[in-house]
Amino acid sequence: MTEISITLPSGEQKTVPVGTTVAEALKELVSNKERKQTIAARLDERLVDLSTPIEADATFAPITVDSPEALGILRHSAAHVMAEAVLALFGKDVQVAIGPAIADGFYYDFDRAEPFTPDDFALIEAKMQELIAAAAPFCRETVSTAQATQLFAKSGQSYKVELLNDLAVETVSLYRQGDFVDLCRGPHLPHAGWLKAVKVIKLAGAYWRGDENRKMLQRLYGTAFFDPKDLKAYLFQIEEAKKRDHRKLGKELELFAVSDQVGPGLILWQPKGALLRKIIEDHWRAEHYSNGYELLFTPHIARRDMWKTSGHLDFYGENMFSAMEIEEVSYQLKPMNCPFHIAIYNTRKRSYREFPLRWCELGTVYRFEKTGALHGLMRVRGFTQDDAHIFCRPDHLEEEIFDILDLNLHILKTFGFERYEVYLSTRPEKSVGSDEHWEQATTALKLALEKKGLVYELDPGEGVFYGPKIDIKIKDVLGRSWQCSTIQVDFNLPERFEMTYTGEDSKDHQPIMIHRALMGSLERFIGVLIEHFAGAFPVWLAPVQARIMNITDAQLGYTEEVYAQLRRAGVRIEKDVRNEKLNYKIREAQMQKIPYMLIIGDKEVEAGQVTVRLRNGDNLPAMSIFEFTALIVKENESGRTGSCNS
Ligand SMILES: [Zn+2]
Ligand SMILES: [Zn+2]
Repeated sequence: MTEISITLPSGEQKTVPVGTTVAEALKELVSNKERKQTIAARLDERLVDLSTPIEADATFAPITVDSPEALGILRHSAAHVMAEAVLALFGKDVQVAIGPAIADGFYYDFDRAEPFTPDDFALIEAKMQELIAAAAPFCRETVSTAQATQLFAKSGQSYKVELLNDLAVETVSLYRQGDFVDLCRGPHLPHAGWLKAVKVIKLAGAYWRGDENRKMLQRLYGTAFFDPKDLKAYLFQIEEAKKRDHRKLGKELELFAVSDQVGPGLILWQPKGALLRKIIEDHWRAEHYSNGYELLFTPHIARRDMWKTSGHLDFYGENMFSAMEIEEVSYQLKPMNCPFHIAIYNTRKRSYREFPLRWCELGTVYRFEKTGALHGLMRVRGFTQDDAHIFCRPDHLEEEIFDILDLNLHILKTFGFERYEVYLSTRPEKSVGSDEHWEQATTALKLALEKKGLVYELDPGEGVFYGPKIDIKIKDVLGRSWQCSTIQVDFNLPERFEMTYTGEDSKDHQPIMIHRALMGSLERFIGVLIEHFAGAFPVWLAPVQARIMNITDAQLGYTEEVYAQLRRAGVRIEKDVRNEKLNYKIREAQMQKIPYMLIIGDKEVEAGQVTVRLRNGDNLPAMSIFEFTALIVKENESGRTGSCNS
């Protein structure tokens, strides 16, 4: 018998007879304990089943339940079992399309005339449990494409037939468990009994092959974990995310709305949302001004010719709103602010002595997004970027990037975000600019990141065509990541707009341009904030910081007086002087997540004080109006400086 050699991750080599299966090899190669945790293996670069025979020399790594690939294999196997359950329950009415593992679980697309209902979820789960208890093995077989086509055609599975036709290969692999057979590359769990924690999560529509001209299928999402405890934690997180959904809270707290009459993806800021936004904008402007930025305002439209010069029409045209004619000249809504800032730069000759120029603008831009892609504040058609452009010499780059990072992290910290993922993207294949410029800029970004002590991941070749960039994703309280900040070096626009400055040598040079946004878009950032705080904003951000309420009409006069006094003192306060029970008023204020409730009874009137109740139900000792104002001032101050996030 021929022997082959297997190399383990440790570098250790073993010889086994050719055709030894992965499972058999494991008995020879790893401890019993590890073997029991192994669900698949990596042979060279290929992930394979335990039943796969090893035919040639290979490197060999067991995939255990703790391996990064393991969850994907588990979830993909769960997708097969879900499809098996759906077919078993709904039989001939159903065609199966595709069912991959995804980031948080898996899905399977079904073609069925009748929509699945939440009641069906329970049925499907119960059926899955039955199949899991039977622990049928996942069996791989390789057949000719013609055979596979015949098999699926016979069982009426036309989506599989279409996939097979498009594959244009001679043989394919099928996986069978119980009565279910699927066209599949694998690998899979050894058997369905490994599925200790599965759950059907939700239903959504999905076009076959993502093509809106094809049939809309029903996509059933599910998830699976090795450990039931992990499933429980995950389900808790989904529930928590639902409660925090910014669209739900935005409505309940009357922060923002979208109206059909105005148009989808266009945000209407209601008074409380507008106030929240103003607080954020004021904070942003103040921080920028004190960090050496100048503030700009620019128009929402510009001549079409400018967008030609900038390259936006060529490279970004499909994201732009169509042109409009004014006095026989074409204009277009802006998708970005950059060319306007360049136009301000070009209003006169610039000298190296003025550098670096740091110009910022809360600039509202308009971009086309498909109606189906719109989502609350997160994905909209009109939004305000917290934009800035820095114009400088190449030798300023490192210091400027460092300062941007500094300001960036400081501002994020004031909003309670202190966990990030940082990415540095380098030169892509198609790009403009010289090797020397790219090298210099990429090094400057790296050095700035290192100096700031930030751990980052390198994304080779993922830079924009005009320069390298840094992206920062923030993590919210649920551990979800949100792409917010971006810092991009640009060699392209200064060239296109023929920007120059007079250097020390009295000659003309091209400036370096840095684009950067910290929050990304105000709309999206506020969406993240709403979910992060579950609508219970810290005092400095809360659009309503306090609500004053009287116990009976006897205190009406004093209540009105205190209300007016606090409002004049800059406290964001509302009053509730309705003839309602105090408990009812308190409950309503709590529902609105207002940080302080000021309760006025006879005792307070007499002492000239207010009783302060917190939204969590605790009470502060009674205090004077002056003391309460001082409390708010202190909260505002510590919030803005990021020293507290109460
Ligand atoms: Zn599969
Ligand atoms: Zn820009």
